[in-house]
Amino acid sequence: MSEDCAENLCPCGSSKSYVLCCKFLHDGLLKAPTAEALMRSRYSAYVFKLRDYLLKTWHEDFRPKFLKFEKDLEWLSLEVTDRERGLEFDDEGYVEFKAFFKKAKKKSFMQERSYFKKIDAKWLYIRGD
Ligand SMILES: [Zn+2]
Repeated sequence: MSEDCAENLCPCGSSKSYVLCCKFLHDGLLKAPTAEALMRSRYSAYVFKLRDYLLKTWHEDFRPKFLKFEKDLEWLSLEVTDRERGLEFDDEGYVEFKAFFKKAKKKSFMQERSYFKKIDAKWLYIRGD
């Protein structure tokens, strides 16, 4: 049986396979080195509906009590459009992105500028504008 390569690609748009990309972060084997890496792993966590990972990587003062996934919403792709700081030696940073999705058979996208902080050597999502 042939394997469908496209299916194994990480949804975050890295062009790497999932097991060599965000899965390390989702499984807690690696910490996101940059704000962008965390942002990408959170996007793929939305794709795979990994509620625990999303809450864990969300600053506790800002995260919702419950995280609901929208029904009928299918994430299609991610495009990172800008970044500001958020590198290994920074302790805060911004990542701007477009996330494309399909809902009720209509394609659309959301655009966000997310703010991240590094606390105790861990990048956390604070909020998006
Ligand atoms: Zn990835």
